[in-house]
Amino acid sequence: MAAIFEAKGRPRFNPLIAHVADLDTAARIAAFDERARALAQAFWPGPLTIVAPIVDVSAVCDLARAGLETVAIRVPGHPLARAVLAAFGGPVVAPSANRSGRPSPTTFQDAYPETGDKCAAVLDGGPCQVGLESTVVAVLEGPVRLLRPGAVTRAQLEAVVGPLAEADDDAKRSPGRLALHYAPDAPVRINAAAPGEGEAFLAFGPWPAGEGVFNLSPTGDLAQAAANLFSHLRAADRTAPVSIAVAPIPDEGLGEAINDRLRRAAGFVG
Ligand code: AMP
Ligand code: MG
Repeated sequence: MAAIFEAKGRPRFNPLIAHVADLDTAARIAAFDERARALAQAFWPGPLTIVAPIVDVSAVCDLARAGLETVAIRVPGHPLARAVLAAFGGPVVAPSANRSGRPSPTTFQDAYPETGDKCAAVLDGGPCQVGLESTVVAVLEGPVRLLRPGAVTRAQLEAVVGPLAEADDDAKRSPGRLALHYAPDAPVRINAAAPGEGEAFLAFGPWPAGEGVFNLSPTGDLAQAAANLFSHLRAADRTAPVSIAVAPIPDEGLGEAINDRLRRAAGFVG
């Protein structure tokens, strides 16, 4: 367990997500009320993480929970992740394979140089299909709170549990909501109409191809942009630009999660 924090250089106060095989297992580990169950039924297996009060403290240790009385749980959809869970038989805490604070790797090629040499075994399940981290919601007392926007959108969640509460003053509950997260080496300039001198450019929508131009989605498709976001940020960074300019991304649907990651990559608190 400690080796995960070590390999990622992850601060001990940032808890991990416990991955389990199914809702029954999750509900034995944590207190899942009706809302948590409804969300799990709607979105599991899939990229939704539910934070709920821990019940079985022996299932997910203190270090993994960063000492919190809550636990973050998810049932992943990827066949390789499911096979690992089936083979292991218990909850598996599994963060992204980046060094802490850097953009999440979405391919084997991006993951291996970050933490590969610190792992006992490395599995290649192909490129990530969603490309963004899971949505994190807290289902505790009071309305459901969105702690981290992600692949499951606000509208999808609200269709199941009604209006969500904001989590702006709630950073402590989800320590991953830190500014300067997901950041490449080069500075990031968001909402840029066009690249400046020496800048790489993450375009969105029609844009002439050229040196230093990485188009998140030439057709302006948010799902495609999400899938490309981190690999393009990394590719742009490798050209050692003065900075990375990023075109405006509409703040709707998946765009909310994309903009959240971009604001953090740029060092603005989201
Ligand atoms: P990552 O493993 O990089 O996807 O990050 C996991 C995310 O879940 C981070 O934002 C954590 O802070 C958040 N998280 C994990 N456990 C909890 C918890 N018990 N309460 C609130 N947020 C949590
Ligand atoms: Mg991560």
